Amino acid sequence: MATNDKGKRALIVGLGISGISTAIRLRSIGWEPVIVERASARRGGGYFLGVFGAGQDAARRLGILDAIPDRAAADTATFVVNRTGGKRRGLGFTDLPVRLRCMLRGDVERGAFSALPDDVEIRYSTSPTRIEQDDHGVDVTLEQDGVAGTERFDLVVGADGVRSTVRRLAFGPHAQFLHPLGYMVAACLLPHPIAGMGPHEGATLLEPGRALWIFPMEDHPPSAFFSYRTDDIDREFSGRPIDRLRAAFGPQEYGRLLGAALDVYEAAEQPLFDAAEQVRMRRWSTGRVVLVGDAAWCLTVFSGMGVSSAMAGADVLGTMLQRHGDRVVPALQAWEGHLRRPIESYQRAGVDMIPLFTPETRRQIKVRHAFEVGERLPLIGQALRWISRGEHVEKDQDIALVQHDGLALVGG
Ligand SMILES: Cc1cc2nc3c(=O)[nH]c(=O)nc-3n(C[C@H](O)[C@H](O)[C@H](O)COP(=O)(O)OP(=O)(O)OC[C@H]3O[C@@H](n4cnc5c(N)ncnc54)[C@H](O)[C@@H]3O)c2cc1C
Repeated sequence: MATNDKGKRALIVGLGISGISTAIRLRSIGWEPVIVERASARRGGGYFLGVFGAGQDAARRLGILDAIPDRAAADTATFVVNRTGGKRRGLGFTDLPVRLRCMLRGDVERGAFSALPDDVEIRYSTSPTRIEQDDHGVDVTLEQDGVAGTERFDLVVGADGVRSTVRRLAFGPHAQFLHPLGYMVAACLLPHPIAGMGPHEGATLLEPGRALWIFPMEDHPPSAFFSYRTDDIDREFSGRPIDRLRAAFGPQEYGRLLGAALDVYEAAEQPLFDAAEQVRMRRWSTGRVVLVGDAAWCLTVFSGMGVSSAMAGADVLGTMLQRHGDRVVPALQAWEGHLRRPIESYQRAGVDMIPLFTPETRRQIKVRHAFEVGERLPLIGQALRWISRGEHVEKDQDIALVQHDGLALVGG
């Protein structure tokens, strides 16, 4: 057994939102978590995020909600724009009739990190290279700056994102679990609002198979999000991201707003460029090794529930381990039993929601427009609000997840 005087030892791989949340929760029930992070330091910044009701509930239960800012400006106005300067009022995230907090990914990570007890060990520049388990524990070889050593843990949590090393080592190759949705996504922070736009003005530029969103924030310059359809992800990863982006939004003139956003992306320090890929697995645990967050079920940006499910997954994991005491394997099975249904519904919603973010055809753009107009008409708006009202599918009061947030239903 790996248990020592302090309690049971858990290795958590990844210092993202899933990993930090898991460490907080496990520490709170007396476990001794050790976090390893491949990067040499904690990340900052990130992109715009919306955290919906289920995520807020989980953050509250983890004790980090108050440490996470809400950067949504009360007077946010979102416009549908085109390349030639056309502009009409549209719907933004903050217009949705749901409980929503807006922030940067780094805000959540920072807030969660601030709640992490000081006695939780964190090792940077460290990654697992081998995972082997028996009925009583897991032996993990960890490599730090080229030096490898093997340690024993009671539990290993893979919170290492969509291309998880823990998943590869314990479950199988990436190709077995990654399901590309056929879209590339790119994001960056703007140093200031784009000329001609107010500080609290957002924009969506929607064309068949490609879209630009500008997300405004209360006390921070906006964030830009691009996405486009592709049939050849390998080609998109060849060459510089900015060149792929410019090609995807060409060959027409970009116009003022898109041109400015592309220029900012080119100059950005840590721009994001990736394929939207869901992780689909029949099981999220094997023995004493479990995956949480993007490593287990990456929902992608299109579901809007990645952060919420990461925090809720970590929270429920702690609840189940506490309930099952020493019996780690049954706890993991019970954990999965509680999460499987809502997570799969978020995954389906993530696919259904693609047209809302990046319509593929002119017809989808028109349907989206009709939705936007309808939402603002009293009777239709009321009906939409009723449809998108939260529905509790999980009745267990001890468990934070599992509230269907309106966004998923609006898109369904
Ligand atoms: C553009 C964009 C917009 C989004 N918008 C939203 C939104 O509005 N709402 C929402 O809820 N979600 C949103 N998401 C999804 C959300 O960001 C993710 O679901 C969430 O951040 C996943 O967190 P995670 O901790 O599971 O994984 P990650 O954030 O990927 O963290 C994984 C960590 O593990 C580390 N790591 C990786 N490999 C190793 C290794 N071998 N060894 C050690 N460490 C390793 C990484 O360095 C990283 O620190 C969005 C995503 C994108 C890309």
